[in-house]
This record gives sequence, C-alpha cells and structure tokens, in this order.
Amino acid sequence: MSNKLLIRDAHSILTGARGDAARSTATDVRIADGVITEMGRALERQPDERVLDARDCVIYPGWVNTHHHLFQSLLKGVPAGINLTLSPWLQAVPFIYRRAFDEDRLRLAARIGIVELMMSGCTTIADHHYIYHPDLGYDPSAALFEEADKLGVRFMLQRGGGTVTRKLEADASTYVPPETLDGMVADVERIAGRYHQVGPRPRTRVAMAPTTATVSVARGELREIARAARRMGVPLHTHMSETVSFMEHCSAEFGCLPIEFLAEHEWLGPDVSLAHLTHLADAELRLLAQTGTGMAHCPQSNARLADGVARAPALHRLGGAVSIGVDGAASNEAADMLSEVHFCWLMHRAHAGAATRPRPAGDGEAGADTVSVEQVVNWASEGGARVLGFDGVGTVAVGQAADLAVYDLDAPRYFGLHDMAIGPVVAAGRPRLKWLLGAGRVLVEDDAIPGLDMAQLRAEASADVLHLVRTIGQ
Ligand SMILES: [Zn+2]
Repeated sequence: MSNKLLIRDAHSILTGARGDAARSTATDVRIADGVITEMGRALERQPDERVLDARDCVIYPGWVNTHHHLFQSLLKGVPAGINLTLSPWLQAVPFIYRRAFDEDRLRLAARIGIVELMMSGCTTIADHHYIYHPDLGYDPSAALFEEADKLGVRFMLQRGGGTVTRKLEADASTYVPPETLDGMVADVERIAGRYHQVGPRPRTRVAMAPTTATVSVARGELREIARAARRMGVPLHTHMSETVSFMEHCSAEFGCLPIEFLAEHEWLGPDVSLAHLTHLADAELRLLAQTGTGMAHCPQSNARLADGVARAPALHRLGGAVSIGVDGAASNEAADMLSEVHFCWLMHRAHAGAATRPRPAGDGEAGADTVSVEQVVNWASEGGARVLGFDGVGTVAVGQAADLAVYDLDAPRYFGLHDMAIGPVVAAGRPRLKWLLGAGRVLVEDDAIPGLDMAQLRAEASADVLHLVRTIGQ
C-alpha cells in the first residue's frame, strides 16, 4: 500500500496546538513517509497518493496517553475493590493479582489495553509497568514493546518497581521480593540501550520510573536514581501526591511537602513527569511550574478512587506542563482517551462551580470557562508529547508526525451540533473511527483494526478473567 496519503474534505480540524493555532482552516492533509507535508483546501491528488474521503469527519491529533498500567486491562471492575480508596484498593486488586501475571497474561492484557486506546484515537502510550522482581523469569519490557509495535503505536515504557517493601505490600498475600538499586538501574540501562530513541518523531522511549518515589525506594537512593537517569539521558516518572496520605506521610517522615521532598532529591525538571498530583499546596504548584515538571493528570481514576480533583487548570495558568493519562483499567474502567478528555472537560467545571460561594454583589455563578475543549485536547496531545519527550509528535501541522484520528460524526449523537469540531469531546461516547493513522500508516479503518480478530480477543479475555477469578479471586 502507498505510504502517501491525501485526506480530503474534512469538516474541521482541531490541531492539538494552543491558542489561535488550535483550529486549522484546512480541510485537506497530505502525508508522505509518516510526516504531514502539506495542509490546505482543495489540494490536488498527486500520483501514488491514496485519497481518504473525510466528508462529515473531524480530524484530531492522535492522543498521547501519559500514564497507564496496561497489565490491569484484565482487572476491570474487580468486586473486592470497587468501593475502596487507593490504599485498600491497591492491596485488594493490583497487589494481589500482579503475582498471577506471566508473560502470556501480560501480553494479552497489553493487547486489550492498547486496542481499547487505539479505538479511542490514541497513537502514543506511556505504560508505567511495575511488575519487576528478581525471580520474574521473563522480560516484561520486551513483551510490552513488542505488543505495542505489532499494533503500530508509539510506546514509552516507564520502568517501575522498587527496592524496598512498602508497608502496604508486606503481608504474605501481596509480597513480592524487591530489587536491588544496582539491579534496577542496570535493567533500565539495558532497556534504554535497546528502545530509547531521541530526535524527531521517536517510536519508542524509556523512562526511569520507581513506582512511588516516596515509598518504593530508600530515601538515600532517590538522588542516585535521578542522576543515573540523567547520565543515561532518560526521563523520570513516578506516582505522586495521589491522596492526602502522601502529604501526611511526607510531613511525618521528612518534615516537608511531597514536591519539596522531590526538589531536595533532584526529582524536578522538564525531564520529570508525575502521575496524579491530586493534592498540591500553592507552593508546590509554583515549584512544578518554575521547573517545567510535567503533570500526568488522571481525572477518571482520581474520581473512581475518591482521590480528589487535581489542580490542573491552576498549574496550566501558572505556565506549567499538563498532560493526560487514563491510569490502569483496575481503577478506571473507561481506560480510553476520549472518555478521559470528556470527563476532564466536565469535572473541572463542576469543581469550579462547587467552590463558588455567594458574593454580596455577585450572581453566584462561575467556572464554566475553567477549561475549554481546545485546552483539554492540547493537554491530551501536544502537552503529552512534550511531557514524555516525543518531539515532533502531538499536533496536526506540517512537519509533524502523521498521527491522526479521523472521527466520523454521522450519527444521531452529533446531529444538531453547531460546532462539529468539538463533537468528540463534548458529546462523549465514541464516534466511529473512520481512520486512525500512526506515523502515516493506517492503524484503524472503518472502526476496525485490519488483521485483528476482535472476537478472538474477547474470548481470550473472558477465559482469562474466569481463570483469574478461580485461582485468585475472593
Ligand atoms: Zn498509576
């Protein structure tokens, strides 16, 4: 098949960029060798070009998901954890089940999660994988990169794990042996040597990502880990400030706020991204903005676990770097990017409204401009690419990677819209994905992944869930 494509007659294009550049006046996009080469109206077809007719469609950048745990794609809606907050949920679901993940199960879960994300229009995925221990017996990193490569998405492995056993996972049912610092660093170096690409439009990248910086490694090791990552030229990632208990822990153990603790250990900067950051003091917001440290904002997971509402709009207003992640499917059964941006768009408005107080001379209404559609789209595309270091990815513009989602809005849900461009975000649900392009390749066509047997994937998932319930379920 030709690697030259001409998308024609799109109704509208949201580019993923900020400000006036968020909307393009183009209707046509020309693509060659995985890159957008021209945008305009009524572009002439050139020899060897395949034409994609995008009438009634809107074009978005392929989403960039900056935080996930793909292994959890087989742990959705586990009854034992459905009404629990973070700590007991961790014990009841991921920590108990992770021991059952061999290579085959991890590959199956990864396929489910990646396919789910692709069908929402996602083309770049960062997976924070943390099932690493000395007796594992297989290479989860290679398995994840291979599954992503087969489906054609860009992939970053945020290589998790820890060197200490945290209190939560110390009992027999959840215990896994910790790694040594040298073992962890050496493995990241090995993976980075194989998969970490720099330069424009990378396909694969690696991050050093101890699971939770304040509890998964010894305090004395934290600075060493940051320095090792910078020596290798890989970014840093970790969970941070997901619940109030992070603040309580840091204040009791270290006498400071979590972000101050990270600053002290060289864990802030434009090469650092932090998942959640649901609870931030003003001083922490300023530190994050000043250092360019990225937020991987996970609104649905934070809501599901009753973590709270992250101050993403406030960080954005300070000039900070915001991106969006779906987090693992065990705490977000809608682990797709369209659901995430829709929810994000609504949640911050609800939150702003809830904080509104009667004013003597006011009308008691505020907050509907807290975050716009263009803003959440930017966070979930260009913002994510910047936070993960995928240069040349994340916007629909000439010279950028041809990662695009072409949504067909020919369905009752979208009838009556005055502004078609915002349909996929404001109307929720999932529009028919006419095409998903990753690096200029057709990854999805007419709402299907060519060569993927969806019935087979469903059957494998059902059989595996049954097996998990029989062997581990309570
Ligand atoms: Zn997470």
